[in-house]
Parts: sequence; C-alpha cells; structure tokens
Amino acid sequence: MKTNVIVKTFLFSFITLFFHFYLFSQQKSSSRNIFTVVLDAGHGGKDTGNRGNNYYEKKIALNIALKTGKLLEKEKKIKVIYTRKTDVFVNLIERANIANRADADLFVSIHCDSFEKNKSVFGAGTFVMGLHANDRNFEVAKKENSVIFIEDNYLQNYDGFDPNSLESVIGLTLMQETYLDQSILAANSIQNSFVYKLKRKNRTVKQAGFIVLKYSYMPSVLVETGFLTNKREGAYLNSKKGQSEMAETIAGGIKDYFSNLENTFVNNDIDYDERQNNLSSSKSNIIFKIQIAASNNYLATKSYNFNGLKGISREKNGNLYRYYYGKTPKYKNALSLMRRAKKKGYKKAFIVAFKSGKKIKLKDALK
Ligand SMILES: [Zn+2]
Repeated sequence: MKTNVIVKTFLFSFITLFFHFYLFSQQKSSSRNIFTVVLDAGHGGKDTGNRGNNYYEKKIALNIALKTGKLLEKEKKIKVIYTRKTDVFVNLIERANIANRADADLFVSIHCDSFEKNKSVFGAGTFVMGLHANDRNFEVAKKENSVIFIEDNYLQNYDGFDPNSLESVIGLTLMQETYLDQSILAANSIQNSFVYKLKRKNRTVKQAGFIVLKYSYMPSVLVETGFLTNKREGAYLNSKKGQSEMAETIAGGIKDYFSNLENTFVNNDIDYDERQNNLSSSKSNIIFKIQIAASNNYLATKSYNFNGLKGISREKNGNLYRYYYGKTPKYKNALSLMRRAKKKGYKKAFIVAFKSGKKIKLKDALK
C-alpha cells in the first residue's frame, strides 16, 4: 500500500514536471519564430501631414495603421508594434528606434500623398529607401521628411541632415542598402496587393530617401495609400470603407511577404548541402559564416542541437569548440543568416570572415 502511494506521488510529480518542461519548450520555440512587424502611422499631433481637400493625413494614416494591426494580430506567428496609437507627435528617429528596440522583422510606414499642382493624380505607391530617386520621388520624400523642421534639436538628431538637399538625401540611403533586397520584396508584396486585390491605380514600387526608413535596421517600406488632393481618392481614403479596405490590403501584403520569407528559409535549410557543394567552385575565396556559440563541449552538428538550424559547422581551437551556422560568399546573405540565427535564440550571433580557410577581420573581408 505504502509503496503504491509513493510510486503514485512520484509518477504524479514526474508528469507535472514533464508538462512544465514541455510547455516551457513549446513557448520558447514558438516565440523564436515570431515575425514582428512595426506599423508606423505617419505624422500625428502638431504634425498634421498633408491637408488635401481639408482631410487630415495624420488621422487617415492612424486609422489604417490600427485596422491593419488588428487584422495582423489575429495571426499567431505575427506580433504587431505601433509607433503611435493615438494623435501624438513622434520624432522620425524615435519611430525607427521603436522598431530597432523591438528587433522587428519589418517596418511599414503608412501615409497619404498629395499633389496640389495636379489634383487629377491618384493611385497607390510603395517606397523603399534607395539611390535611384527621380525628381518626383524626391518631392515625395521631401514632404515626408520636412517634419523634422518642427522637431527640437533636429540638426543634432539627424547629423545636420537637410531635407531640401539632394546630396543630404543620398547620404541617407547607405544604411538601408543592406536590407534593400528584402525591402523590395516586402514592397512588392504590398504593392501587388494594392493593384491586384484592391485594383488601385499602380504607382509602382520606387526608391527615395526617407529619413524614417534610414534609421531602422531591418527591411523597411513606406506606403503612400493614395492622394488626398484627388477628389474621389481623398473621399475614399477618408471613408470607413476605404480605410478598412486599405488595411485589409496592407495586412494581406505583409502576410504574403512573411509566408514567402518562411518558405525561403525552409528551402534554404533543405538545400544547404547542395549549395555548399556549389560554393567550392565560387570564384571569391572569401567566405562568411555566422558564429553562434563557443564552448568546451563537443556537440554533433545536428540541427536538434542547434534549435533547428541546419548547416552547422564546428571548429576546434585548443580546448574550445566554435560552432558556425551557414556559409556564404555574399555578405548580404550572411546578414540574413545572422538574423535567422538570432531569431532562433542565438542573440549574440555574429559574422565571421574567412579567406582561403583562414579567419580574417570582417573589415578586411568587406574591402
Ligand atoms: Zn505623410
């Protein structure tokens, strides 16, 4: 009898403990695969945005952002962060910082355009940060950037940036260049959604120098949902129906981008060995790897030892084993591998460069 009770108690505690561990590991693994998107409603507070047809860009942008967020929040794997949820003024640099602090995967800034000179102009467009700016793109960016004039200390905050100077704008683009490929993919997903799902007039994906995109360390896009100066489009964007449809479309585009991203990474893992073989024939003798851990313990380079990451290599140095994830001759790919490793829980992962098999300084490799 007595032993029976002991066994039962034991069994009970064991099961409870097991469930705790099980739940804990489930939570951990799910939080690793979360896609964080920052929705940035343009303008706010003392910055009204454009006032085409007497509408308020700041109000429309906020409504669309909140509605978009509500739709995305229904997705289990998506986390939504807002730069503002009310009618308040937020510095451009603070908007980017909110996204950086959250280590977000995507930054989406929501706006409405205006064109007083020609009120017949209408349509939806999506922008990424980039050099190939023409005059019209520069004009759009200038308008969206000009808000810094009403910020305090803007010269200090933005390193003397002058929104009216094209040279200044070109200087902005360097940081975002790293994420340009991904930003364009995200922009295309959203723009396709505008054009094919909602049948908006296609003003295409373009590049221009937006401050709010400069300071974010992640793929970033800015959407111009339409023109408030256009009578019909202005009324549509100011209506509940218009705002709900816009939100659905933007949320749809973001979800498309996210599911493509997931598929790409899954395929990357599967194809890893194949690609590694191809690399040996690559012309460049510089290779980037992501160091994810260093330890005295010898571990098999199996994905189950590394939070599901495939393509792990190990290097012995004295008593220390270094573990690397991935292998690529392209620095851009190394950056996305690093993000992937961080997402999988290796928060301190960093890029290491090798030349002909020997470790070299990253700085030298980038020359
Ligand atoms: Zn705006």
